Amino acid sequence: MQHIAVLGATGSIGTSALDVIARHPERLRASVLAAGGRVEQLLALCERHRPAHAVIADAACYPALRDGLRARGLDTQAHCGDEALVALVSGDACDTVVAAIVGAAGLDSTLAAARAGKRLLLANKESLVLAGELLMRAAHEAGTTIVPIDSEHNAIFQCLPDAHAHAGLARILLTASGGPFRGRDRASLAEVTPEQAVAHPKWSMGPKISVDSATLMNKGLEVIEAHHLFGVSGERIQVLVHPQSLVHSLVEFVDGSTLAQLGLPDMRTALAVGFGWPERIASGVAGLDLLAQGRLDFEAPDLDAFPCLGLAFAALSAGGTAPAVLNAANEVAVSAFLQRRIGFLAIPALVEDTLAALPSTPATSLAVLRDADAQARRYAAQAIDDKA
Ligand code: NAD
Ligand code: MG
Repeated sequence: MQHIAVLGATGSIGTSALDVIARHPERLRASVLAAGGRVEQLLALCERHRPAHAVIADAACYPALRDGLRARGLDTQAHCGDEALVALVSGDACDTVVAAIVGAAGLDSTLAAARAGKRLLLANKESLVLAGELLMRAAHEAGTTIVPIDSEHNAIFQCLPDAHAHAGLARILLTASGGPFRGRDRASLAEVTPEQAVAHPKWSMGPKISVDSATLMNKGLEVIEAHHLFGVSGERIQVLVHPQSLVHSLVEFVDGSTLAQLGLPDMRTALAVGFGWPERIASGVAGLDLLAQGRLDFEAPDLDAFPCLGLAFAALSAGGTAPAVLNAANEVAVSAFLQRRIGFLAIPALVEDTLAALPSTPATSLAVLRDADAQARRYAAQAIDDKA
């Protein structure tokens, strides 16, 4: 029996993970459920999945969680805060961790899972962007298996089964849907609303990653993510816009072979790969009917309309603290955009300004990276206030 901690249990990935887990009661069990602040939703999940532990990030919500569990007659133990979460992830309560908290808030628990040698289903891409080298080193030292839970990286993972395949890898071709504004020019994006930005044409996801998909920052973060996961430099990663979102990514080998993974756009496939690997287990996702789909198109990304992708490539090439600054400024900008405090085009502008104001320094430790993250958040928040 695999005992699984689902971090970000109330979110889009968390929901998909629990759906796959419930399909395999003989081999998968949710033993820890963690969420940010939605106590009622977390309680409902506890009733359904009967975990041994439930964790809420927001301390103000702890009494409601504890009392709610008791009122429902559940013997799930209530906890709150990041420290409790890190302790549960590191201890015997689980052997598998689905890291699906959104943003840099997921760093500590993701890092704890990597250090503890847990099977790590890694959706929290921001932690890789922020501290990829440290995270990968910790995982390597602890013998941790990381299965990426990002459709593109999960596709690449499936195409690179062993060290021989890795050794012959020439290039990674990362596909992108293009988001809801594909084909539009920069000027036409000035007035787009949060509702339009989160209405993704192919994937149903949380609000932050949906906005990132609309700006193409999501693909930029994924380029950095691919660099860390597969040890490939930015020059060997090409982004292809593929509007049908059926080819999830491709790898090219030195012999001229290109391998791809295809499937319907549903994250349960990647999660089932993560739980079962190297076995294959049912996910609830239907197979792909290529005759019904008709065609597969590919085009180059428009870096003028969507400058975030170029900013991410530049941050990867600058190295050091630059990716942490990029990520932090983007989190602040996206949150302000969702609150209607800034416009859509201000997102790339703010990220660019923050990168220029805080030049990269060597990322010698986690403390240096956390400090760069904090400085970038302060700088970006101040820049928003100054303009308001
Ligand atoms: P979401 O907004 O739907 O869910 C986020 C979850 O994180 C919620 O359960 C929330 O309660 C929890 N959370 C937020 N702050 C927290 C904190 N401080 N402590 C504990 N929990 C906290 O987001 P999502 O779409 O599920 O995305 C989660 C992560 O997975 C992101 O890093 C995203 O980039 C990545 N990802 C998502 C998808 C997708 O299809 N949704 C695909 C690829 C990668
Ligand atoms: Mg993705």
